[in-house]
Amino acid sequence: MQGKLNVQTENIFPVIKKFLYSDHEIFLRELISNAVDATQKLKTLSTRGDFKGELGDLTIDVKIDSKKKTLTVSDRGIGMTADEVEKYINQIAFSGVTDFMEKYKDSHEPLIGHFGLGFYSAFMVSDKVEIFTKSWKDEPAQHWSCEGNPEFSMEEDKKHTDRGTDIVLHIADDCKEFLEEGTILQLLKKYCRFMPVAIRFGEESVWVDSETDCDKDGKPKRVEKKQPRIINDPEPAWKKSPSSLTDEDYKKFYHELFPMNFEEPLFQIHLNVDYPFNLTGILYFPKVRKTIDPNRNKIQLYCNQVFVTDQVEGVVPDYLMLLHGVLDSPDIPLNVSRSYLQSDGNVKKISQHISKKVADKLEEMSKKKEGEEKSALEEKWDDIKIFVQYGMLTDEKFCERAMKFYLLKGVDGTYYTLDSYREKIKALQTDKDKTVCYLYASDAEEEHAYIEKAKAKGYDVLLMDSPLESHFINLLEQKLEKSRFVRVDSDTVEKLIPHDDAIPEKLSKEEKEKLQPIIEGEIDKQRFTVQLESLEESDAPMQVTQSEFMRRYREMAQTSGGGMGFYGELPESYNLVVNINHPLITRVLNETDGEKQKELVHQLTDLALLANGLLKGEALSKFLKRSVEMI
Ligand code: ADP
Repeated sequence: MQGKLNVQTENIFPVIKKFLYSDHEIFLRELISNAVDATQKLKTLSTRGDFKGELGDLTIDVKIDSKKKTLTVSDRGIGMTADEVEKYINQIAFSGVTDFMEKYKDSHEPLIGHFGLGFYSAFMVSDKVEIFTKSWKDEPAQHWSCEGNPEFSMEEDKKHTDRGTDIVLHIADDCKEFLEEGTILQLLKKYCRFMPVAIRFGEESVWVDSETDCDKDGKPKRVEKKQPRIINDPEPAWKKSPSSLTDEDYKKFYHELFPMNFEEPLFQIHLNVDYPFNLTGILYFPKVRKTIDPNRNKIQLYCNQVFVTDQVEGVVPDYLMLLHGVLDSPDIPLNVSRSYLQSDGNVKKISQHISKKVADKLEEMSKKKEGEEKSALEEKWDDIKIFVQYGMLTDEKFCERAMKFYLLKGVDGTYYTLDSYREKIKALQTDKDKTVCYLYASDAEEEHAYIEKAKAKGYDVLLMDSPLESHFINLLEQKLEKSRFVRVDSDTVEKLIPHDDAIPEKLSKEEKEKLQPIIEGEIDKQRFTVQLESLEESDAPMQVTQSEFMRRYREMAQTSGGGMGFYGELPESYNLVVNINHPLITRVLNETDGEKQKELVHQLTDLALLANGLLKGEALSKFLKRSVEMI
């Protein structure tokens, strides 16, 4: 029989060929998906008792014939009768392609997966496609052939007696790479690695005990043996029930998924929902230390075990893209653009579900088990803190949940929930305006002197050292009732948490007015602001501090890029706090010799700078020289 496909334009095949040029490798996924479907359908017919024959070996074969320049996909599934070829291949499949092209011909956005192109995607790489098929029903085999134009031929095929379908692609000259074993193996590994029916391609060598040769100890020799290579794992871990898997199984699967990731994941969440949408998958928490990995394509999206994409923007919330793993759902529409995807109801529900599961898991981990010193969350906290912060900053709902289990860490390494920490510091660290002041350090080494001073007053100091911390502190100040975060070096210890009990001043108003210009005359006024303070006599005569507000906003501008540029461009500025109650300051004021007065001011400011690691280069050399002379 000769026929003409029901097409409006003669040019549709060249269009298919050019269309999705960069993606034309998906033809293999489409053909093997069809073979898998045909096999699954046969299994269903068999379990229902409709098909009574032997199933036999159902493995799908992929073969290259480099002489004939063909690539063949063979299955032993249900096959097609002549009527079915007419209906599914000549009419329906083709209309599917026409619809698809009609819908997306003007689309400039990448489509997820390009599902829907189906069987005809074979023409993206072939000059001619043949189908040899025999139905499971008692009907003659068919041979269908089409050379990439709207004419096709179909005739009975007396030679073909086995049930199933062979799709033979005569690979076009400009697509020769699809006749190379390496290319096909790589594509099979990418798209078909977890398809539910075994797929055989080429051979692989294994080492086995020899049956005939022994070594001198009488043990069988190890010999190399060739065997057919099965490229997929038809039962991936995410399809199994969580109760049947151990932690080891999960780790093994992680390495199967990401053979190039050598670090162990911290823990995982196994997703398994069938209503109101269908979703399975496993998400692993990797270590996120100081940086947020810009390479976020570590979640693979599958549709019924067929790989679709590893670009999941829009499918999961941004912060969850830091996780690694697989998601499998037939309910994510795949032949749509990314912007459509974000507004899709099912996708929204799926994304909220995942977010909720992540919060559930973290909350569960935060509960201490009997007899354990630390909760599971405390154990892993340092490695996932940035992840939680990022989630709280970008997802309102997650933030609400996380306020219950978020952990603050003291400089001594103790962890507290937000509630328990507030209880701990409330009594001593509430200022005269009833605001609870949270003291923190960004670097316990560098801010050591300040931490010690705060501790001496009985205050507690937190360690807040993630790159997101300045943004996160702002968030906490909004979420926590009457609270303020101050870094330990942002003011003198008395003023970090202002209480009512002011220390009496030793200098009069006139004396202070006289002192101010004496000090200002000797310092870099661009960088330092002189601040006269009434402190304890035993405190240092001069100290350098840095305003919390200015420092935090500078840091935020630097980590958020754009929008806050103004703050980012501010020079680093400091306060030079002068303790007017200190005897050395009285000496500066009363010194009548101008030179000696200057020298004294220099020495005192240099000491304050030195304590902060700010005295460097020439200034440091001068200071050393001056100190020796003064002694
Ligand atoms: P889809 O798979 O999305 O339905 P296709 O164009 O890939 O679209 O295939 C159209 C139809 O042709 C299939 O639904 C199926 O009925 C039939 N078909 C394709 N390949 C095979 C096969 N290997 N064995 C049996 N039937 C097949």
